[in-house]
Amino acid sequence: MILGVSSAIRKRSKATLYPPGEARRAACAPIWSLVACARFRSISDMPSPTPGRSNIAQRLLAWLEPRENEMAALLAEMVSVSTENPPGKHYQACADQLERKLSQAGLTCERHEFLRLPAAPGTSVEPAASLVASFGAGQRTLYFHGHYDVVPAQSQKQFQPERKEHFVFGRGSCDMKGGIVSMLYAMRALRECGVDFGGGRIALTLVPDEETGGARGSAWLASRGLLGRDGIGMLLAEPTSGVIWNGNRGAISLRVKVLGKSAHVGLQHRGENAFEQMVSVVGRLQQLKHEVEQRQTSYAVGAEQTRNSILMLGGESGGGTNFNVVPEQCWFTIDRRINPEETLDAERDRLIKLLEQCRRDGIRLEWEVLQEGRAAASSAEEKLGRALEQSVKAVTGQAAQFEMCPGLLEIRFYAAMGIPAYAYGPGLLSVAHGPNEYVDLRRVRDCGAIYALTAIEMLND
Ligand SMILES: [Zn+2]
Repeated sequence: MILGVSSAIRKRSKATLYPPGEARRAACAPIWSLVACARFRSISDMPSPTPGRSNIAQRLLAWLEPRENEMAALLAEMVSVSTENPPGKHYQACADQLERKLSQAGLTCERHEFLRLPAAPGTSVEPAASLVASFGAGQRTLYFHGHYDVVPAQSQKQFQPERKEHFVFGRGSCDMKGGIVSMLYAMRALRECGVDFGGGRIALTLVPDEETGGARGSAWLASRGLLGRDGIGMLLAEPTSGVIWNGNRGAISLRVKVLGKSAHVGLQHRGENAFEQMVSVVGRLQQLKHEVEQRQTSYAVGAEQTRNSILMLGGESGGGTNFNVVPEQCWFTIDRRINPEETLDAERDRLIKLLEQCRRDGIRLEWEVLQEGRAAASSAEEKLGRALEQSVKAVTGQAAQFEMCPGLLEIRFYAAMGIPAYAYGPGLLSVAHGPNEYVDLRRVRDCGAIYALTAIEMLND
């Protein structure tokens, strides 16, 4: 999940670390703690999402259950390749590693390489490879989707993965290399249990660059018609803490610079005060903020969030050189987070028009777009939504709630094509991007079972 370009770089989340053995008592996220408490249930009492398919479900689960050590080893290997983004390190090494693992699993794999040098300063010049690995031969395609880039580590030790009992610690273990392991093992389980989809296939799409907006990953694949072809649905392995994210807020984030003219305080009449001009711009933005923040989404949101649309001002700001000098320039950021009911184009236009009006009124200013991404939502009532919900219940014994994700998700690229898309993964959002990132291997295994059962529901018609 991407929280924002600048936050991806600078976020130092207060990750909550539960030592092994404590996780079950963790009280931070009620839904997650319920899931964490649910042992991988014995195969014999495991209901299948659809009666009559219990034999397949049992075979899958029996195949997955003893493979925790294998999964831990694969995850540790992946974590040790430091795919930090920005700037986008070691993408080739990681893609090579994944391609090897996918072909060892008997999956056919396409590789698409973004070769052009990126324009953005500070971005790696390495080619950025995306992989699409398939199982099954039919046209109707259920997409599994994951990103292999990770946010920058707080310490290089995070690339030396550590296993403690049922937990793997390290950068990307939770967001979201652990989820990729679940998806790969779901496909292996289906293949090795001899599941034969009548007229469909699973395509696991693995991309870089997600943490900075997907320019060389999903956005590029989508622009070339390589994303979501013949898609009937998409599952994304982000760390959802036990809930299903069926939507995400969109984002447009700007940095606005207001220009003035410097002068000594004693001669301030010769200067132009950029700060005072900026206050006037901010005042107009506050009126817009007041208006748009009345809007509420009808989608469910997490316990600590509100349904209101968001226009946050001054997440970062600065300007001036000294208290006794008329400030020559001042700047601030705007972070606009839109609900699925709003459209990015219209909300971007509102902001830009307001800034243009300021210019016409004589305020000298310029702006740059730091990031933008569309909101997306899929109804919980879609067949895939119901299949995922039932599979979660079948494996964990607990119902999963549908909620809107507060950050950007790559479900948006699929939803924009009319493909129902949902995020559900083994990690905890509260430890993603933090210094003590970890994933519970039992959840990695459970999610493998959940993805496999969901695929059977969707493709075995
Ligand atoms: Zn992520």
